[in-house]
Amino acid sequence: MTHPGDLLRVHGFSSLEPGPRLIVLGGVHGDETCGTAGIERAVAALDGGALQLLRGQLTMVPVANPLARRLLQREGERNLNRSFQPTPAGAVAADYEARITDLLCPLLERHDVLLDLHSFQSQGEAFAMIGPRDNDGTLEPFARAFEEGQLALHIGTSRVVEGWLDIYAAGLAQRAGGQPADAAALAFGWGTNEYMRSRGGYGVTLECGQHQDPAAPEVAYRAILSALRLLGMIAADPAEEPPKRPALLRLVSVTDRLDPADRFVREWATFDPVAAGEPIGRRADGTLLKAERDGFIVFPNAEAGAGTEWFYFAVESERDLSRPS
Ligand SMILES: [Zn+2]
Repeated sequence: MTHPGDLLRVHGFSSLEPGPRLIVLGGVHGDETCGTAGIERAVAALDGGALQLLRGQLTMVPVANPLARRLLQREGERNLNRSFQPTPAGAVAADYEARITDLLCPLLERHDVLLDLHSFQSQGEAFAMIGPRDNDGTLEPFARAFEEGQLALHIGTSRVVEGWLDIYAAGLAQRAGGQPADAAALAFGWGTNEYMRSRGGYGVTLECGQHQDPAAPEVAYRAILSALRLLGMIAADPAEEPPKRPALLRLVSVTDRLDPADRFVREWATFDPVAAGEPIGRRADGTLLKAERDGFIVFPNAEAGAGTEWFYFAVESERDLSRPS
């Protein structure tokens, strides 16, 4: 399905002064265009001299999945933001996205920091997603939670969501009747950020707003500037105010849709608050699904296929991004 015109465009800016290495991705999902617009604007500002890179290296990929972009769909042959690991040496890339992943992985590896720009389907405000706290566990060991949190904090969204791979792993175990997930199934949960963390870097996913929100490209552009400023790669803005403390939510569970007849009791939007005991959905057999505690609905998907993620549940997090965890 490769189109002769499909190629990965990579913009690189290297200062002669050594410094941090930041990579920014747009269009990992083809119908999410705000990151592309934000990157094109940053490229133009750097080319035109309005923006000056003082130190370090900045790499920007405006359209990470050219096939998905050409189709203006989330996915090309599949979701680029899953199984994000290079094809093992000697093996043949399984599909289009695997070939893209094989190009992006070595690129990410040459950087310290990833900013991955996305947008979402339902209405709502921009938010950032960060990974685990510092830990030396086996699932996603990490030692740069403070730096990652600082990046999310300075991007300045009103909400930040933490945790993903642990909840993904718990969801897999649930589906397997309590058996811990095997490595291959777990690897499917890896996106760009998980790969970046596995290579010693850190990464933040910024969901810039609804796909069509006219403000989303501005959110993306501002985030690139905030990241560059935080890392000391462009001049500080004297008018910049200290970041406000965002509402921090922690993903705690994922619930699968089991049957096409499973229905939400109402239309949910991401971050809708629910009280303990409040009905969320009704199973095909009539069982009412209730909130296990006070919290928030995240990524509700009324169209989810049977056996796939229906909605995530988050609670308020006690983590303070302004302090080492
Ligand atoms: Zn996306």
